[in-house]
Amino acid sequence: MRYYMAPDYDRAKGEAIGLLQKFGLEKPPVNPMDIAKHLGVKVSFVEFEKKLNNISGFYDFEEDTIFVNMDEYPLRQTFTIAHELGHRILHAEWAKSSDYKVLLREDNLSNDPKEAEANTFAANLLVPRFMLDKYWDGLPTTQLSELFAVSVPVIKNRISFEYGA
Ligand SMILES: [Zn+2]
Repeated sequence: MRYYMAPDYDRAKGEAIGLLQKFGLEKPPVNPMDIAKHLGVKVSFVEFEKKLNNISGFYDFEEDTIFVNMDEYPLRQTFTIAHELGHRILHAEWAKSSDYKVLLREDNLSNDPKEAEANTFAANLLVPRFMLDKYWDGLPTTQLSELFAVSVPVIKNRISFEYGA
């Protein structure tokens, strides 16, 4: 059951930083829609059924498409797209070997290591330390949130993780 192994955070981070380098992205904000487009991944904003309304999005490996809950607010959608890109890049091998080709994103309640890896990928793609280094000490979190186009909680998590502040 290899997908119950501990999350590989270093790999998730490395893939995110590698993509930023590949596309020459050096300054915030990072737009995961652009990255998806460059990679040939479709992004589709859809209305989910009521019973799926706690789902932010999912990635369909067979369609190579990220589906995003259109009812969620834009900064959350941005994070969802980055998270689903993480599944696409990190978990394609798993998808090939599994009957289950879709990963639903429910509010981080899952303890599946793939979810932890996709979150780490998204965090490092949208708010990489090398970009955060230039700004975190000089701007309030609300301005950092605008600059990086992510929510304030995401910024706070990144600062706390990278600098222990
Ligand atoms: Zn996920």
